[in-house]
Amino acid sequence: MRYVIDLPATPSLPIIGRDERFPVRRVFCIGRNYAEHAREMGATVDASMPMFFCKPADAVVTDGADVPYPQATSDLHHEVEMVVALKAGGHDLDANQAAAAIFGYGVGLDLTRRDLQAIAKAKSHPWDVAKAFDHSAPVSALRAAGEVSPSADTTISLHVNDTLRQQGRLSDMVHSVVDIIVTLSTLFELKPGDLIFTGTPAGVAALQRGDRFHAELEGIAVLDGRIV
Ligand code: MN
Repeated sequence: MRYVIDLPATPSLPIIGRDERFPVRRVFCIGRNYAEHAREMGATVDASMPMFFCKPADAVVTDGADVPYPQATSDLHHEVEMVVALKAGGHDLDANQAAAAIFGYGVGLDLTRRDLQAIAKAKSHPWDVAKAFDHSAPVSALRAAGEVSPSADTTISLHVNDTLRQQGRLSDMVHSVVDIIVTLSTLFELKPGDLIFTGTPAGVAALQRGDRFHAELEGIAVLDGRIV
């Protein structure tokens, strides 16, 4: 097959301890999955139905590459999140199928143009311009499930310039990883290669050009990078 333009490159993530990489198909994100963060945003958690949004696959920033400060904002916020990578898919999965679909885990930043999000919320507009911009999803190398898997006690944290900004435990999540996959699969036919950002604990705040960030999913994945 010949195409009228060059085929776009497939974004992909390194895998800890392996030569192969993980190709990224789509990026799903859940909103308001930690009650403390929902409160700091002046929102409440709807425990019955999670709120989802998406980022394009090529918003992923890999291998510790620099993150350019985005255009059209003066309030770029960090949201540190556990990232789940899927090796299988399907729709209307049950809990066992959802668990079996997990390839592995990483840690990422759901970067947010908070000023544009505030406008979108006020006008009941979609969140795309606030969430789905270029370079808005730096993600660590993935840790294959089964090697080390997160538990309820696993902490997630973010340091900016060596100062602790965000910290939470996975037990603080309103919707568990399996619940998120099950619910997403009632809305979309999930596919191998899909990534899921699983929500952020409290402490979101602004990033500036020159900031160095260090995100950690305790014992599983680390992401170091820089805003330039
Ligand atoms: Mn988020």
